[in-house]
Amino acid sequence: MEFDRTPADLKADLDRFVIGQEMGKKVLATAISFHYRRLGQALKQAVMENGQDIDLALRKTANPKANILILGPTGCGKTYTAEIASELVGVPFVKVDLTKFSEVGYVGQNVSDILADLLIYANGNAQIAQMGMVYLDEIDKIASEPAATRDVSGRGVQKGLLKLVEGMENTIELGRERIHLTTKHVLFIGGGSFEKLEGVVKKRLTRLMLPGDWQARIHTDDFVACGMDKQLMGRFPVRVAYDGLSAQDLKDIMTRSEGSPLISYVQDFKAWDIDLEFTDEALEEVARRAREEEIGARGLVAILHRLLLEDMYQRPGTFTGRLRVDQDYVEERLP
Ligand code: ADP
Repeated sequence: MEFDRTPADLKADLDRFVIGQEMGKKVLATAISFHYRRLGQALKQAVMENGQDIDLALRKTANPKANILILGPTGCGKTYTAEIASELVGVPFVKVDLTKFSEVGYVGQNVSDILADLLIYANGNAQIAQMGMVYLDEIDKIASEPAATRDVSGRGVQKGLLKLVEGMENTIELGRERIHLTTKHVLFIGGGSFEKLEGVVKKRLTRLMLPGDWQARIHTDDFVACGMDKQLMGRFPVRVAYDGLSAQDLKDIMTRSEGSPLISYVQDFKAWDIDLEFTDEALEEVARRAREEEIGARGLVAILHRLLLEDMYQRPGTFTGRLRVDQDYVEERLP
């Protein structure tokens, strides 16, 4: 219950995995460590003062939480940062695709699905489940069209989501047990590209003749102008913008991140007694080509797979030792 990691500790651990996104990591590390510290203290106090059991304290404790909204292009580490942070903190992590949410259009089922997933992740421990993190992917895709007259679903989904992030209760059946759970203390992290936002903010800044960085001047009303519900956006007070990844970032992801996709390939080859090595030029070439895909770090996985496919097929069982990938190799394999 006691959470004793400082924001700086958490940020330092995130640095081992997430390349770049300095402001993003700082904002997330701070919001997350404050959330869990505050929750831990509140629960401890409730249990001490009233002799309540933790289950009851979880339901009774008021905890003004600050959910987080991450903006930024696809594949730049929004989900990844949230997931790694949940692992570092030691709480369950569930990712929800909000485009599916809108299809279902019925909040109750969504809520019980999310709570059930948290419970499974927590190995059936209800207390841990209720302290998890839920990543709401593509939150911008549930925006309502400002021009549409019959846009019932967009608004309905947003209202439902509002209740979910504020705190909804549901009973989950696990085997023969019926477990009562709430989302009140779950930390929600919304992620989306919000492609229209830049234009909206810049237009406002120009109108007001305000200079400066648009990302630092995003207001709730700018989200409203993009079709988001004002109250819902009010529930995500912590906001941060992620940058698109440069070719240098992509190279660093391969060489410096503990989650490097390249390291996975090296290990896979090693399992066949093949030592896969990349020259610096080859790494740069891969990064450059991955950048051209414009899907962020996902481009790396795609390029590396295409690049290595032939050797993955042919080498095992026929070759052992050093396999050196240089620029010529890249150009030959990926003309
Ligand atoms: P999105 O921003 O769309 O949520 P993800 O976080 O899911 O993208 O990124 C996809 C994958 O790419 C991650 O699982 C991770 O392996 C890698 N990745 C993306 N951004 C970074 C980054 N900044 N540092 C290290 N790895 C990254």
